[in-house]
Amino acid sequence: MMPKHNFCAGPAKLPDVVFQQASKAVVNYNESGLSILEISHRSNAFTVIIEEARALVLELLGLNTKDYVALFLHGGASAQFHQIPFNFLSKRAGYLNTGVWSQKAIHEARFFGEIVDLGSSNDQHFSYIPEKIIQNRIDLDYIHYTSNNTIYGTQIKNFPEQKVPVVVDMSSDIFSRSLDFSQFQLIYAGAQKNIGAAGTTLVIINRKAFSQANRKIPSLLNYDYLIQKESLANTPTVFSIYVSLLNLRWLKAQGGIKSVEKRNEVKANLLYNYLDASNLFTPLVKKNSRSNMNITFALNKPDLTSDFDRFLEHHNIIGLKGHRSVGDYRASLYNALELDSVKVLVSCLQQFEENYENIKS
Ligand SMILES: *Cc1c(COP(=O)(O)O)cnc(C)c1O
Repeated sequence: MMPKHNFCAGPAKLPDVVFQQASKAVVNYNESGLSILEISHRSNAFTVIIEEARALVLELLGLNTKDYVALFLHGGASAQFHQIPFNFLSKRAGYLNTGVWSQKAIHEARFFGEIVDLGSSNDQHFSYIPEKIIQNRIDLDYIHYTSNNTIYGTQIKNFPEQKVPVVVDMSSDIFSRSLDFSQFQLIYAGAQKNIGAAGTTLVIINRKAFSQANRKIPSLLNYDYLIQKESLANTPTVFSIYVSLLNLRWLKAQGGIKSVEKRNEVKANLLYNYLDASNLFTPLVKKNSRSNMNITFALNKPDLTSDFDRFLEHHNIIGLKGHRSVGDYRASLYNALELDSVKVLVSCLQQFEENYENIKS
């Protein structure tokens, strides 16, 4: 079988070694004679897994264990859209509107309080990150950003200073670049893009930074309860957490975030440089807002769409279709995607463009 080059936005490619280790654990976990799928979440075997994973998360992000805890929860990143305001929105919170995921977060937060618009790029199809972001308001319970807009391919490069707790949805760029993560008081991300197998949601929280809203909160939505139960309030997504641990170990063995960040830059520059020079393809995002994780581009001749799609399929390139809400194309270059796959993609785009130029002339 020819190897596939998987540019899917999520669930996404993980390192081959993680796939191998995970499949082995399904048959016989750690020579225990048991599958990872049948061990108790209260067993010592699993406690060791989740504790190592939680510690590695903070270590890789450079966060101290005095203020921050890492939790593996249920419900996807989307469940955080309501869980965060349920706990912390008393009166009003500020949200930056950079696309579909921000809007969904805003929609859920409105059930709990007033939402202040900190800025928006809605006027140009979310193809940029707003330059003017409202700052330093002290009447907000917290501020919410989407750090990387998976659908449009934009990424916040510099986070403006704020005077209230900052919450970030990092679903599609966590562990991909180095930042001072202590500028955020809550970080959340669904596992299926850059962390592990779909199923679990990573939440990293500095609980002391937030004031609890004055309302009754069901236990499984209550961060205090989840922290107190050390992420084991009920049966966790054992397999997804195990795969996350394998991937975090892989990340550490690569040299941590700084080394994968360098590789991610090389991969993204290779594709952006080609797209910027191309006559047939156009990148969709303004230069200073471009994501290194999700690269969106258009084919300038829409009548070539079905030819192009067949060409990609023939070269084992998959997952390149843009999100159904925007169309066009999107290449997701998460940590585990190899530089070789980007080289294959760029040479295919080049070849397709050359073929087209030859037919034209
Ligand atoms: C994928 C994605 C989500 C939704 O994640 P689920 O785990 O499916 O709920 C939310 N925010 C961003 C930025 C995403 O990329």
